[in-house]
Parts: sequence; structure tokens; C-alpha cells
Amino acid sequence: MAYIQFLGAAGTVTGSKHLINTGDPSGKNGFQLLIDCGLFQGQKEWRERNWHDTPVPAKEVDAVILTHAHLDHCGWIPRLVKEGFRGPIYATSPTIDLCGIVLPDSGHLQEEDANFYNKGKKSKHDPALPLYTFEEAQNSLQYFKPVQVGETVPLSPELSFRFVRAAHILGSCMVEVSLQIDGQARRLLFTGDIGRVRDEKIAPGKVVHSGPAEGEVADLVVMESTYGNRTHPKEDPMPELASLISATAARGGSVVVPAFAIERTQKFIFILKHLIEEGQIPRIPVFCDSPMAIRAVEVFLKHQEEYSADTCDMITKYGSPLEWPGFSFASTAQESKQINSVLTPCVIISSSGMATGGRILHHLSQRLPDPKNLVLFIGFQAPGTRGFAIKSKTDEVKIYGDYVPIRAQIAALEQFSDHADPPELLEWLRTFGKQPATTYLVHGEPDASGKLRDLMAKELGWNVQVAEYLEKVEVN
Ligand SMILES: [Zn+2]
Repeated sequence: MAYIQFLGAAGTVTGSKHLINTGDPSGKNGFQLLIDCGLFQGQKEWRERNWHDTPVPAKEVDAVILTHAHLDHCGWIPRLVKEGFRGPIYATSPTIDLCGIVLPDSGHLQEEDANFYNKGKKSKHDPALPLYTFEEAQNSLQYFKPVQVGETVPLSPELSFRFVRAAHILGSCMVEVSLQIDGQARRLLFTGDIGRVRDEKIAPGKVVHSGPAEGEVADLVVMESTYGNRTHPKEDPMPELASLISATAARGGSVVVPAFAIERTQKFIFILKHLIEEGQIPRIPVFCDSPMAIRAVEVFLKHQEEYSADTCDMITKYGSPLEWPGFSFASTAQESKQINSVLTPCVIISSSGMATGGRILHHLSQRLPDPKNLVLFIGFQAPGTRGFAIKSKTDEVKIYGDYVPIRAQIAALEQFSDHADPPELLEWLRTFGKQPATTYLVHGEPDASGKLRDLMAKELGWNVQVAEYLEKVEVN
């Protein structure tokens, strides 16, 4: 009996891990394939699952296919390797390059967390250990194997797969798996995260291809549902963005933008360049304060095959963002500190995106108390994070143990999401060549997955189920 088991991103948006076990008549386990191998993040209840063993021992997993380089999809790979996995990890070349940045960084953070915990403990016995180290993360990179979009890769006599574009972030793909059962091919589609529609007004600033691959044909679909209960605003955010930045500059203030170092930062610097060159905002200095973001720009530049037509035009016209006049990229701590002395209008983009850590904290603690400044959110702020507190316009926020008063203007633009919302998902699903027998929803909070299930059943008449953690479903 071939089956799929949901080992993560079921009932939550993190820890994506789906096991395909092909089974075989002799009663052996068959080929065991993991689609994604993500880290659980967020609440403790979920994070603790990072410490659980997989139901199938890591060394018995034959291969991993990775949809994209976000940590909730790839961040458990070093742990899988640490526990004995030695098979190939298939991913697109840009995904592999981005993993080369995010996985060692994640190992570094795991080590820092363990050290922080150990410092606070009275007993030196039984020290906290990192989930994996920087070195272990680097070591895991040797198992990655690049695969071209559209190339069919045979895995076993009964199993093969190919990548098709998901248009979520650089290098992101969906996985079409072909599985032979009793001489008949079954097509399984794992969407990973699904990108926005091809509409520049509704989904502005796409650096990479927009619009997920259309006309899919599948018997069984495992699909994300992050935004199952929310729709993105449909108005073009550019006029509001331009007027917020211009007004701040006019009153002598600076704009502080917390943004994820990968994808969102690159997207935003392209938008700023566009607005500056179009004369919609004044030509003020832009500081990108994140070593990871600089390395990610280099990966972006290497993979021009991934660009949207607009991005290609901009690169042809203006060259590499790393050399744009007026744009500075701070790599060292010294360069980062120098930004503090800039007291004339400027834009500062730094991470982390939800202000939970990183260099953005220095900029927020310096600039939040001044009403001339603007703090602009361009990404989702999870409840419980510092970013969420600031966005909610509380009076003060704790940074490095001090309470910092919030007097700066606070604004948020929700249009820059890289996930399709329900109307966009329906538009994409309507392009399918046939109705899948079953669709399992993963990667959503229970309310989001439930609402999307109801919507798909009502609008499309599809058989949709919300996947449960550790649930096994037969493929027949
Ligand atoms: Zn993602």
C-alpha cells in the first residue's frame, strides 16, 4: 500500500514535511521520499516537535525533494542529515544557493539559543544543545542535487518527479510526482507555497516569475492554505507607498523598514529604485543593513532566468543593485553602526522581518522615539512578535531590556505578500485539466485551512480534506 503521511505543516504553517512511502508487495517499506523538510517555528508546542524523531528513521529515507528555501520548508534538513540521512536532496539551483545562506545562518542561531539558555542556567550539568550547528548545516549542503524546472527525474522503477514553477520566491517550485500502482500511473501534486497571480497592480514588485504553472493534472493534490481565510487588499499600494516616503522625507524624517533578508528585501529595493527613477519619491539614500540580504542579492543576480520581464528591464537599464548610486549595503557591524549617524532623510531596510532580532532592533530603538520618522511594515507580523506590538501602535516596546517609546508614524502595506489568497487560488485551480480525486490542505492554521476547504468545495465542487498531523492517507 502506497501512502502519504503528513509529518508537519498540518494544523500549522511551519514544519512542512510530507512522506511518500511506495510500499511493495514483499511487505518491505518501499521507496521513502520526503517532500520538504522544514523547521517548526512559532509556539513552543510546535517547536518541541523539532526534537522528535521522524516516524521513519532518517537513514531509511531514500531522498528529499525541496520546494523552496524558506526555513519552514528546508530548515530541518541539517537535523535529518545529523540523524543519518545520506540520500540526495533534489532542489532547483537557486534554491540550493539560497539554502547555502539560510541553513548555516539557522545553525548559527540554534547555537546562539543554546548558549543563551545555558548562560541563564545555574547548573552546568545537562547543558542545552543546538538542534544542529553552523558546521552541521554546512555539512548537509553536500547532499543537494540541482534539478532543472521541467526535467523528469527517475527515483525508482515506480517513482519519478518533475518541478513546475510555483512563483512564490526565487527558485520555488511545485512537485509533480508520478507513482506507478498496479501498472497504472498516479499523478500527485505537492504545491509547496503558491505565489501570486500575474497582475502587477494586485501583486506588485515581483522580482521573480509571477503566476504558478497553469493547467495542472493530478489525481491527488497536497496544497498550502496559509491565506485560506484572508484576502489581500486589491488596490495598488504604490501611490500610498510613494506618499508615505515623500511625506516622511519632507518633514526631515527617516523610513525604517523591517523586512526578511531574502526575497522581501530584494523586492522592496527594486520597488524603491522604480519609484526614485520615476520621480515619485525624492532621491534619498537607501541603506540595506543585512549581510544575508547582500548575499541573497548576489544569488538573485546569478539566476537571471528566474526574473520577471520587469526585473530584467530594470537590471538592463540600471545594472546590479549592489552598484546603484544612493543604495548602500552594510555588511560589517561597523558599516551598520555608521547608519546611526545619518540624521537626514533616508530609507533603512533591515531584518528580521518581524523585529524579533537582528540589526533592525538597533534602528528601531534609535528611530522609534522621534515623531518625524516612519516605521513601515511590508510583511506579515505574527501575534506575539515585537513587530506585531509596534504595528498595533502600543505606547512603548521593549528592546534590549529598555522600554522604547513609540512616537514615530507607523504604517503597514499588506500587498507585498508572496502567497496567493483565496480568490487567486480559485483562479489558479480553475485552470486544472481535471478535478483531483482528493485534495489535502496543509500549511495553514486550522481556521484558514477549514475556510479554504469550504470555499473550494462550494466554488469548485472538489473533495477537499484538511490534513492532520501524522495522518496517513492511502494512494490508490
Ligand atoms: Zn515559503
